[in-house]
Amino acid sequence: MSSVRSVVRHVPWTIAPDREPDGEPITYVLQCVVCRERSERSEHWKTPQKWALRHSGKNPTHHTFREVIWRPWRTHMNDEPGARS
Ligand SMILES: [Zn+2]
Repeated sequence: MSSVRSVVRHVPWTIAPDREPDGEPITYVLQCVVCRERSERSEHWKTPQKWALRHSGKNPTHHTFREVIWRPWRTHMNDEPGARS
């Protein structure tokens, strides 16, 4: 049995941050660079920042943190109805 493959048309795709109402929220984490412990993942910066301050208070040699941001992205075909470009 042979397979048949065809390309009907090529459609360009675009990727952009997902700002749809049902999209995932942007969330934030701070991670200690020294021990790699992480804050709770939160939609607001205050939670990770408070965690970092408490973490430094409990571990006086842990002063450096990295931010981790989960930002949802979405792809769409450029000729899709309602597509943004
Ligand atoms: Zn630490």
